[in-house]
Amino acid sequence: MKKELAAKLHSIETFGAVDGPGIRTVFFLQGCPARCRYCHNPDTWEMNSGTAGILTVEEAVRKAKRGRPYYGPSGGVTFSGGEPLIHGEFLAEAIDALHEEGIHCAVDTSGTYFGEKSAKVIEKADLVLLDVKHTDPVEFKKLTGRDMDTLFRIIEAVNEAETSVWIRQVIVPGLNDTEEYVRGLKEFIRAVDKVEKVELLGYHNMAEPKYEKLGIPYVYKGMKSMDGERLRRLQEIAWNPA
Ligand code: SF4
Repeated sequence: MKKELAAKLHSIETFGAVDGPGIRTVFFLQGCPARCRYCHNPDTWEMNSGTAGILTVEEAVRKAKRGRPYYGPSGGVTFSGGEPLIHGEFLAEAIDALHEEGIHCAVDTSGTYFGEKSAKVIEKADLVLLDVKHTDPVEFKKLTGRDMDTLFRIIEAVNEAETSVWIRQVIVPGLNDTEEYVRGLKEFIRAVDKVEKVELLGYHNMAEPKYEKLGIPYVYKGMKSMDGERLRRLQEIAWNPA
């Protein structure tokens, strides 16, 4: 008998409007190899601490189909995390099953993991939301605790598969909130063939209480959230389709 593939689930968002185009069902999968200093979901890190149980392929399809009336022409499903690519075997099968139902599938990856099944998942996905944690390898490592080679392997894989990509970059005060950095980002992502959009996301400090609750030291303790006006100006430099 074929084993039923499943992934540890952190949570589900049923009317997601910020993780890909249109309205989406967003499955946040549990587990992440990175430890980003600004992570606002440290409760997704540990593979075995998920609170929402197990998500089977069948269950993912059933739940995704419920949202279909709201998806419109561009919505669908996004697999996020944590880092969803660590659930490669599950994702590959889940995407196939969702495609059989005609549901658009996006994968939201942090760029900090590349495993045996990652290329296959990227090939199957309709869209990859790709975080660029930092364009400088030393800063990337400092910020995430991971080496940057995984990001380059993902870029190779999306190019090879001709998968569409939305680039996402968190802008952190004092780290990368300069025009110079954003212009460098534009250069950096020229390596990605099918960029459909670049989104800058402002750092916010709302996760601080979560760290306290989990007893994890928070490196950015006391730091202010990113200024909205400054972020808008940087966004115009990064990507302004108008
Ligand atoms: S990759 Fe995402 S989930 Fe993982 S630590 Fe970084 S911000 Fe958090």
